[in-house]
Amino acid sequence: MQKDELTYWIQEKDPDKLALLYEQARVCKAQHVGNNVYLRGLIELSNVCVKDCLYCGIRQSNKEVGRYSVTLDEIRECAKIVYDKGFASLVMQSGERQDPQFVDFIEAAIRIVKQVSNNELRITLSLGEQSRETFERWNKAGAERYLLRIETSSPTLYASLHPQDHRFEDRFDCLKMLREVGYQVGTGFLIGVPGQTNEDLVNDLLFLQTHDIDMIGMGPFLLHPQAPLSQGIDYSADDNFTLGLKMIALTRLLLKDVNIASTTALHALKPQGRELGISAGANIIMPNVTPQNYRSDYALYDNKPNLQEDSLRALESYVQAQGGQVAYGKVGDSAHYCRRHIND
Ligand code: SAH
Repeated sequence: MQKDELTYWIQEKDPDKLALLYEQARVCKAQHVGNNVYLRGLIELSNVCVKDCLYCGIRQSNKEVGRYSVTLDEIRECAKIVYDKGFASLVMQSGERQDPQFVDFIEAAIRIVKQVSNNELRITLSLGEQSRETFERWNKAGAERYLLRIETSSPTLYASLHPQDHRFEDRFDCLKMLREVGYQVGTGFLIGVPGQTNEDLVNDLLFLQTHDIDMIGMGPFLLHPQAPLSQGIDYSADDNFTLGLKMIALTRLLLKDVNIASTTALHALKPQGRELGISAGANIIMPNVTPQNYRSDYALYDNKPNLQEDSLRALESYVQAQGGQVAYGKVGDSAHYCRRHIND
C-alpha cells in the first residue's frame, strides 16, 4: 500500500467498497498471522494519574471521579483467574505515575503474576511514560511487552490534545527506549479526534511502518463529560466507528504480520464493535478482568462497556463462523517481533 492508496481508502465512504477492503484485510491476516484470535486479560490497576490529557476522563484535573488503586492481593487473584481461563496473557494498564512507590509496586506485581502462573502468562504493561531505568527494571522483572500509544504522529496535533508540558518528543523517545530495552513494542492512535485530518491518519499508518511496530492498539475517540476536548464539538459516532475499522484494515494490509487489538472503544460505539474489528483484520481481544467494584471509575470515556462472559461466548461463535478460533492457552506473540528476532 502506497500513500495515495491509503489516502483514497481513508476518504472512501461507500459501504460496498469498504466491505471489500475488510475482506482483503481478512485474507491478509489469514496469510500472515493465521485466523487465531488471542486473548489478553486487562487489569486496570489504578485511575490515579499525573497527566492531564484533554480527551481523557481520568485526567488529573477531573475531580468528579473517585480515585482507586488495586492491591497486590487483588492482582494475584486476577492473574489466577486469567491463567485459569486460559487467556495466556495479561495486560496491566493504569493512569500514569512515576514515583518510586509506584515503580516498586509494579515490579512486585509483575513478579506475582509470573509466580502464580508458573512463569507462563505473558505480561503487557500500559503504564505511560517512564524513565529508561524503570522500563529496564520492569522488563527484568518479567514484563515482555509494552503498549504506549503515541496518540498521533503529528507533533502539532499532539500539542492541541495535551497541556504544554506533555511533550510529543518525550513520548516518542519512550517508544525508542522500549525497543532498545527489548520489549515487544506496541503503539497506536486516537482516531477521529478534533482537529485531525485525513492526512494525519495516513501519516499515522506510515509511522507504524517507519518505526517497525510489533503491536497496535488504537481506537476511535469517544466523548467524556469532563474532558475539555469533548465540549461543544460536532461528533459523529458512526463516522468515528467506520474510521476505526478502516484504520484496522489498512494497518493489516500495510504491516501484515503485526498483532492488532480490536479495542473496547469500538465496542463502546457499537454492540458488535469488537467482532467487526476482528472481521476488519484485528486478531487480539482484551477482556476486562478488573475487579468489578473498580470498573466504573476507570472511565476514560463515556459508556465504557463491560465485557461479560456471555459476550465472550458470542465472540467465540462469531470468530468460528468466520473460519477462525479464539486461541485459549496460546500466548500469541507478535509474529512481526518473532521474525525480527530470528533475523537478528
Ligand atoms: N496512562 C497510560 C494508559 C492509560 S490510557 C498511557 O498513557 O499510556 C489508555 C488509552 O486510552 C490512551 O492512550 C488513549 O489513547 C485512550 N483514551 C483516553 N481517553 C480517550 C477517549 N476520550 N476516547 C478514546 N480513547 C481514549
